Amino acid sequence: MGVGMSVSEKSVVVIGGGFGGLSASCYLAEAGADVTLVEKNCHLGGRANRLKERGFKFDMGPVAYTTPDVFEDFFADFDRSPDQFYSIERLNPNYRVFFDDGDRIDIPSDRSSQRETFERLEPGAGEQLDRYLDQAATNYEIMMDVISSSRAGIRDWLDPRLLGQLWHLSPLRGTLKDTIEDHFTHPKLQQVLTNATILVGSAPSKLPGFYTFLSHLDFNEGIYYPEDGMASVVEGVVELARDLGVKFETRTAARAIRSDSGSFTVQTSAGDHTTDIVVSNADYEYTESELLSEDQRGFSRSFWRECEYTPSMFVVYLGVEGDLGDLRHHSWLLPPDSKGSCGPSQDSIWPDDPIVYVNAPSITDDSVAPEGHSALYLMSTVSTEVVDSSSNRAEFRDTLLSTLDSRAGCDVRDRIVVEEHFSISEFAERYNSTRGSAYGLAQALTQSGPFRPPHRSKELPGMYFVGANTNPGIGVAPCLLSGKICAEKVIGDVLDPDRTSRVRKWVPF
Ligand SMILES: Cc1cc2nc3c(=O)[nH]c(=O)nc-3n(C[C@H](O)[C@H](O)[C@H](O)COP(=O)(O)OP(=O)(O)OC[C@H]3O[C@@H](n4cnc5c(N)ncnc54)[C@H](O)[C@@H]3O)c2cc1C
Repeated sequence: MGVGMSVSEKSVVVIGGGFGGLSASCYLAEAGADVTLVEKNCHLGGRANRLKERGFKFDMGPVAYTTPDVFEDFFADFDRSPDQFYSIERLNPNYRVFFDDGDRIDIPSDRSSQRETFERLEPGAGEQLDRYLDQAATNYEIMMDVISSSRAGIRDWLDPRLLGQLWHLSPLRGTLKDTIEDHFTHPKLQQVLTNATILVGSAPSKLPGFYTFLSHLDFNEGIYYPEDGMASVVEGVVELARDLGVKFETRTAARAIRSDSGSFTVQTSAGDHTTDIVVSNADYEYTESELLSEDQRGFSRSFWRECEYTPSMFVVYLGVEGDLGDLRHHSWLLPPDSKGSCGPSQDSIWPDDPIVYVNAPSITDDSVAPEGHSALYLMSTVSTEVVDSSSNRAEFRDTLLSTLDSRAGCDVRDRIVVEEHFSISEFAERYNSTRGSAYGLAQALTQSGPFRPPHRSKELPGMYFVGANTNPGIGVAPCLLSGKICAEKVIGDVLDPDRTSRVRKWVPF
């Protein structure tokens, strides 16, 4: 069994069916709890939503399946394996990068070809890449150990073994930008390595040097495609949850959480649920400010005001006639000197020469588009401060399509048969995402590890949080881990309630 203990006879309401909520539900149901998951939308998977239109299938959110061992470990916790639910294929190249001067670089999936690619652009960069990626792997291992384990109090974070590991998190000084520039001088190599920061929503000039671990994910671990897209992973986890006895209520929005002498009432659009434990997978700030009453909140309004959120995204989903030329399954279209511009710029303008990420799954999987057609999405970071009006969107959409043409030589403008957009308003309305942020709380150093809001409510015994705004943070695999950490806390607290009150005093905020 996943977390190895029993909480039978306890009822749990999980609010939100993202990967974090689904994962926590699985672990709690396996431990014997009576779990009901309420989800405001009609689909499960949260940001891993699927759009189906006229024979096209689009993953609307996550598309890169990384760190497959995390998924294997997750299913193994329930004596299953991912291949009982879906199959994955390792992509090669990982992605293609198109530069503004017409140049392009493929990042292959194996180290020796990666080394050759780097060496071609900068003599000596092959060896430097080895050093960079070996350090990235070490940093990743340490980071995972640091942020994935269920450290609850300041004492847990002051554990000598952990401090010893942190000592080896090299380089601790300097920013990610400095670290990349220390290793590589060619601007194109620097640009390629900074792209990964789009995953955490902070600029390389703001992230500490040990964030090189992001390159470990694509260069060392590889990028996989789950057959039929990320939606098949959602379906797999939902099937597992159902097998374990989790009950789902979709189109059911939680409207308020009220605590009353040791139990809770979760008021929803479909009626009230009385429960012993509540786990919220909805946005942390939203849960506190919209669902809990003032005296039950762990954080003040001013705390949330100071928090840094990731930017939003503007995503254009396109079904087009014909093929996509030189694009690969994952492609990046980079403007001149794009280093550092993936971060949470607070400029209230739509970028005029944006970094564009292109996802084209029909290159790998012909089931996601009708015969003779292609499915793709174009995505670019936009500040949550921009005016999200239809005229601004239309103009930016044109910018993305002309960038696709000018950088990748792929003009789809006269071949579009399906088109949908998703941006700030949809993130806010569909997922209750604070400020319309795409990923939630940014993963800056000051909001990671012990500084990320805790899984266990600071104020309300029996109330927990799970998902990207808690540890380990943003991404599908981290959210699965977040579910396990959260469930461990719930189970530990049920079995040893005295410890809970001791631990709460130590939460480092
Ligand atoms: C465009 C995009 C691309 C991405 N690409 C990748 C990628 O390639 N690889 C990767 O690993 N990660 C990627 N991510 C990040 C990843 O998708 C997320 O970090 C992760 O899926 C978030 O999961 P979560 O558990 O935090 O829940 P969420 O997905 O945020 O789900 C929360 C759920 O709570 C529900 N909810 C909110 N309020 C209520 C309420 N009142 N009542 C009931 N339900 C409620 C919401 O409807 C939602 O379903 C991407 C994200 C986006 C947006």
